[in-house]
Amino acid sequence: MDFLLSNVANFYIFLLGLVLGSFYNVVGLRVSEGQSIITPPSHCPSCGRRLTIRDLVPVFSYLFLRGRCRTCHVRISPIYPIIEASTGLLFLFSFLRATSIEEMLAGWLLVSLLMIVLVTDLTEMMIPDKILIWFLAFFIIFRGIYHLVPWWDSLLGAASGFALLAIIALVSQGGMGGGDVKLFAVMGLLVGMKIVLLGFFFSTLFGAIIGVGGLLTGLIRRRQPVPFVPFIVLGMLTAFFFGDQLISLYLNLLF
Ligand SMILES: [Zn+2]
Repeated sequence: MDFLLSNVANFYIFLLGLVLGSFYNVVGLRVSEGQSIITPPSHCPSCGRRLTIRDLVPVFSYLFLRGRCRTCHVRISPIYPIIEASTGLLFLFSFLRATSIEEMLAGWLLVSLLMIVLVTDLTEMMIPDKILIWFLAFFIIFRGIYHLVPWWDSLLGAASGFALLAIIALVSQGGMGGGDVKLFAVMGLLVGMKIVLLGFFFSTLFGAIIGVGGLLTGLIRRRQPVPFVPFIVLGMLTAFFFGDQLISLYLNLLF
């Protein structure tokens, strides 16, 4: 019975993530283009056909339609089902991994912010202020109710995320954008100083590994702009979910 109940819970949480992921696609696309989230109803950007419920089932519609519009057969970006599936899996992972309600909710909030800015970065190469301001408000409300990290750590997290990224943005002269600086400041408020700094470390580490790998294999050309948000997503989630274990593992190796 317990086994059945926990599977039902897992299923519904995965489903919640899928549906929210679908919503995050819409939010990411429309906010970066300055459109309303509610109107007009979802439509094919190529032929303008209004999407019906059959077209809007997360992941499955994409697979069933083999990644093409039902009417004009124009290719649909694989970003959408990837965001949907990732949000579903990460919501479930956050639920399974959390030891408290605040950990689970913080995980869901962080995943939500990261998935939306992943959409805006991959489609428009930007992180809209509007999204950051909304999540700043969510994080402050969350912070007022739950105590994932102490207040001073939230403030320190925001300040250190901002300061470190701002310095690197100045030094690298365009290697890091203003959107990245603000994103880390907002995330620092949620997760505190240790995790936000570790998250930045992992982001750059993953970025460097993929960057060097891409240059060596010729998949990336020099000076070609590469979106950084995918690495921020990987780095921040690694730090959030595994940061404490990785730090103690590292300290054990040292001493
Ligand atoms: Zn179409």
